[in-house]
Amino acid sequence: MSSRTIQVSAFDLVVFGGTGDLAARKLLPAMFQRDRAGQLPDAGRIIGVSRRPLGDEGYLDFVRTSLRDHVKAADLEPEALARFLARIHFLPVDVTGETGWAELAALLASGADHVRAFYFAVSPDLFAPISQRIKQFGLVTPKSRVVVEKPLGKDGESAREVNAAVACVFEESQVFRIDHYLGKETVQNLMALRFANRMFEPLWNSTHIDHIQITVAEDIGVGERGGYYDTSGAVRDMVQNHILQLLCLTAMEPPDAFEADSVRDEKLKVLKALKCINDRNAEHCTVRGQYRSGSVNGQPTPGYLLDISKEESDTETFVAIRAEIANWRWAGVPFFLRTGKRLGGRTSEIVVNFRPISHSIFDHTAGRISQNRLVIRLQPDEGMTLEVMIKDPGPGGMRLRSIPLDMSFAETFGVSNPDAYERLLMDVIRGNQTLFMRHDEVAAAWRWVDPILAAWSNTAQRVHHYAAGTWGPSASVALIERDGRTWLEDSE
Ligand code: NAP
Repeated sequence: MSSRTIQVSAFDLVVFGGTGDLAARKLLPAMFQRDRAGQLPDAGRIIGVSRRPLGDEGYLDFVRTSLRDHVKAADLEPEALARFLARIHFLPVDVTGETGWAELAALLASGADHVRAFYFAVSPDLFAPISQRIKQFGLVTPKSRVVVEKPLGKDGESAREVNAAVACVFEESQVFRIDHYLGKETVQNLMALRFANRMFEPLWNSTHIDHIQITVAEDIGVGERGGYYDTSGAVRDMVQNHILQLLCLTAMEPPDAFEADSVRDEKLKVLKALKCINDRNAEHCTVRGQYRSGSVNGQPTPGYLLDISKEESDTETFVAIRAEIANWRWAGVPFFLRTGKRLGGRTSEIVVNFRPISHSIFDHTAGRISQNRLVIRLQPDEGMTLEVMIKDPGPGGMRLRSIPLDMSFAETFGVSNPDAYERLLMDVIRGNQTLFMRHDEVAAAWRWVDPILAAWSNTAQRVHHYAAGTWGPSASVALIERDGRTWLEDSE
């Protein structure tokens, strides 16, 4: 089964940081796949920009290598590759100086009526100088947009600065703050599940839902990003953006329409309703962890300190949080949020645990009646599982058991899902902001996260160690068990 492909309008995609890791691993492969799918018009150009003095030829080598490394060999058909390479241009520009900008302006002038998308795939301290030069050289047209990558600040204050730098040049309707989690097919399916089916929405509240777990677990360590990660940690890297976005989509009220501001208004209300965690309750509601040496997938792995070549650090590589949303729908329903590195597996999932049935008509010989559970898997195998009780087949009386009604998207549709960047880049060109964060959402997320970080520092909250390859420190198990619940992997 395949979906319809509608071509986007003529465009110029200018990638600042065109020779960086993000361009190589995500942006170029995503654009190549959209080109293969027939979604890019003939008048679609990709212009790489960075300081190194590459000509078009040198950059084409970079693009070829990126595609070879990050696209399945079977997809690199010579014809598709040639068509894609014909779209590629490169300009050496130091974004903090003057050189190269006039050439960029001249190249863009040859597509004056194109959608013009500036992608800031560079460190956030370059957002302000790039925005200023774009303004100085008069490069903003009515069809211009800008894409900014995370991290959107390291706290509320710096996020405001990043935002202000971009807002000096671009209208809010032109700013696309990317969180690639929102481009994942299952995340969009969460909205389809909730708002295109009669049967879930009536149950989607504190009367019927016992608690919700959101886990984003990685089995890898900090790798090459150790220097950056040690100044960031799991809350800034994962909770402030990806996990809170998943929480919002799970908990928000139905928007009036599947349209950017309606969806974002509802997400914002959820962020505003999150109960504050601060010095008073952080110890009770949060657990910080850091991995030590251990074994992942049967391979011995070093601890965090060795990974970052430091003797000490209290940066968290794991966090578990018991959050609550103070509104009519969710009062009393805990949301257990968890993310970490070097955990027991690579999984991202939302687990909706329903309350027990109100009364059992079966006697004890039927066995225990498990609570219904809906598991929405974002990775590795995107899909959903609804756990329901049935009668054990065959004779032997009424014995009950829980079975999963399982849907793997890859199996059901016979295709693997496109990478999130494919969807999001096309949305940028189309000008559809529904799956991008508005500035007030980012600010509201920081308003909830900042007091947690401050509390950890003010109260010197302990960082618990955990062995690589486990599911985090035992304090995380204690956090959820104190509430009489268990993490999904412990309940199986
Ligand atoms: P990177 O590999 O270090 O690449 C940085 C790019 O910026 C290079 O192309 C570099 O090229 C260019 N650059 C640096 N200074 C410049 C200047 N003064 N003028 C023009 N170009 C300059 O970084 P990255 O991993 O691609 O990440 C880029 C941004 O995306 C960061 O903000 C990162 O946090 C974010 N991000 C990355 C990923 C990822 O998977 N990599 C994921 C999410 C978010 P030259 O050295 O040739 O100038």
